[in-house]
Amino acid sequence: QKITIAVDGYSSCGKSTTAKRVASKLGYSYIDTGAMYRSVTLYFLEHHITLTNDKEVEKALENIDIEFRRNPNDGRNETFLNGLNVEDEIRKLYIADKVSEVSSIAAVRHAMVAQQRRMGKKKGVVMDGRDIGTVVFPDAELKIFMTADPVIRATRRQIELAEKGEMVDLEDILENLKKRDLIDTTRKESPLRKADDAIEVDTSYITFDEQVDAVCLLVDE
Ligand code: C5P
Repeated sequence: QKITIAVDGYSSCGKSTTAKRVASKLGYSYIDTGAMYRSVTLYFLEHHITLTNDKEVEKALENIDIEFRRNPNDGRNETFLNGLNVEDEIRKLYIADKVSEVSSIAAVRHAMVAQQRRMGKKKGVVMDGRDIGTVVFPDAELKIFMTADPVIRATRRQIELAEKGEMVDLEDILENLKKRDLIDTTRKESPLRKADDAIEVDTSYITFDEQVDAVCLLVDE
């Protein structure tokens, strides 16, 4: 019997790497909702959308089409915005800098949540984000809430960015994470919080394999 798994938590706690691996171990599909908010942010920046102009925002949202496609070479899911592969671009720091502001706009959230519900309609899905267990799929059979020490999170993100050739000071990353956490937890529209029935996993001092095993064990229960 396949289920829906919601993985929420703060930025850079290892949500997406863990969710991705759990999905592949279980033969589930994986949906990265952060990639969707990042894609909207990229579109808004490219089209100079004024975030406070509701009409402009609504119009822009109508012109945004986000899709995930599997790369046939490595099996990796990649994000496409209006038919263009934006997987690498949306991971850059200038997007991370703006994404929380964009994702606090109610119209943006409504559009994304509707699309996420359609994408995750079929059981056997791992979806990661900030509001999956609370808003998108409040009936998910398993909800994980990931946390980790901020400095450890920043260090992990720094290594990830460096692997992609983007060298960033630890202080700048830490500042970005804190800023995003603050906006994400205090925004009016579906703020980031742990669902009452979510299980908290602190990833500060456990390895990646241990994170994956912990989640898989919960699925078996
Ligand atoms: O998960 P990731 O770090 O890629 O998410 C980027 C940003 O998108 C988050 O900091 C948050 O502002 C926003 N987000 C959100 N709701 C989600 C997923 C991401 O608001 N479900």
